Amino acid sequence: MRVRVLGSAAGGGFPQWNCGCPNCRGVRRGAIAAVPRTQESVAVSADGEAWFLLNASPEIRGQLESFPALHPRGPRDSPIAGILLTNGDLDHCLGLLSLRESYPVTVYATDRVRRGFTDGNVLYRTLERFDGQVAWRSLTPGREEALTVPGGAPSGLTVTAVALPGKPPVHLMGRFPPDREDNVGFRILERSTGRVLAYLSGVAAVTPEVLRALDGAACVFFDGTFWSNDELVALGLGSQRAEDMAHLPIGGTGGSLAALADHRSGRRVYIHINNTNPILREDSAERAAVEAGGWTVAHDGMELEL
Ligand SMILES: [Zn+2]
Ligand SMILES: [Zn+2]
Repeated sequence: MRVRVLGSAAGGGFPQWNCGCPNCRGVRRGAIAAVPRTQESVAVSADGEAWFLLNASPEIRGQLESFPALHPRGPRDSPIAGILLTNGDLDHCLGLLSLRESYPVTVYATDRVRRGFTDGNVLYRTLERFDGQVAWRSLTPGREEALTVPGGAPSGLTVTAVALPGKPPVHLMGRFPPDREDNVGFRILERSTGRVLAYLSGVAAVTPEVLRALDGAACVFFDGTFWSNDELVALGLGSQRAEDMAHLPIGGTGGSLAALADHRSGRRVYIHINNTNPILREDSAERAAVEAGGWTVAHDGMELEL
């Protein structure tokens, strides 16, 4: 299985347009050991021909251009066989609206995430210009689905969605009660090798279900949004704690680094990294701590072969 990180930052990207935190100021000026990152999206493929995107970020156009394997092979063409959505946050699905140039797109999502994006959304009409412009494929936690290429043949990959502790997107808060299908991770299986990519980019807590989702994976991508619970508060950037935003921090006694210390299966990568996170600095103590724990910090353009 080929895996290519198109974007590795949390919502807002790095640097974020309205952020003057030390990391964002530092990376703009080239004064810190860190590289800019676009918002989270990852491409996976069994054969290097048909690709599946995990999330569709607002920066999708530049992200697709950044990776030649995703360029058209004919006058009207795309190697993108499908797009999988982990949740309805705008940094994960706004990119769908940028794929409006009258070309069929297949989207895999839970019914909750689909309805949150389509119901009452006048902008979605741009993806309803012809019958079948968007084909939605329903994901149900625990059920394995074949990922298919246009025409319906198997791609060599399957996906099993895993319900993760999370929350509805900010713009839908208060509209619906929270639901277990608001936020999912993926176990993507390559049938020919049996290798599994566990992709959990938004996780509020390490539960037994989360640990099961990581079991036996050749590679784990995990929520790396915040280092500490009070990161935004301490920097004077807001009142929300990581837990209020349904992101388990990496550091601290209850953080993911400690909680997953015994779970050493395969490669482990932190992704969806907020611009305030000290692990973005290549010379920080926090970066050294995650690397000592066997983790890699995702960057745009990173490629893995599982
Ligand atoms: Zn996000
Ligand atoms: Zn910032």
